[in-house]
Amino acid sequence: MTLNKTSMDRLQGVHPDLVKVVLKAAEITDQPFIVTEGVRTVERERSLIAKGLSSLKSPFSCRHVPTNGFGHAVDLAPVVNGVIPWKDWSKFASVARAMKAAASQVHVSITWGGDWKTFKDGPHFELPKNLYP
Ligand SMILES: [Zn+2]
Repeated sequence: MTLNKTSMDRLQGVHPDLVKVVLKAAEITDQPFIVTEGVRTVERERSLIAKGLSSLKSPFSCRHVPTNGFGHAVDLAPVVNGVIPWKDWSKFASVARAMKAAASQVHVSITWGGDWKTFKDGPHFELPKNLYP
């Protein structure tokens, strides 16, 4: 599949290694997806925390908020018949499978929020902080 223009625009400011993984995943996946968010401002992350939509204590620990010039996280959502099946975890897992396969093909390490033990974040993928501070 090819990412639509909105998705491509949302990859602006995201670290090139993570962009590489997303583009490769789009190429190899059989589950179409869109980029719902890339770089996030401190103000937006602060409001998500206030609404309980982010588990973080500080907006500055959010990987969407740029550090060293780049955002280090993206949110991806599967698309089925033109809509995002928010309640169907298996579709998010399909996107994650494509992202993990893509990451290994382009030799970039990624973490999927769906693998977290608490606050599972199905759409969320990030570059590890120890490798990409
Ligand atoms: Zn995220």
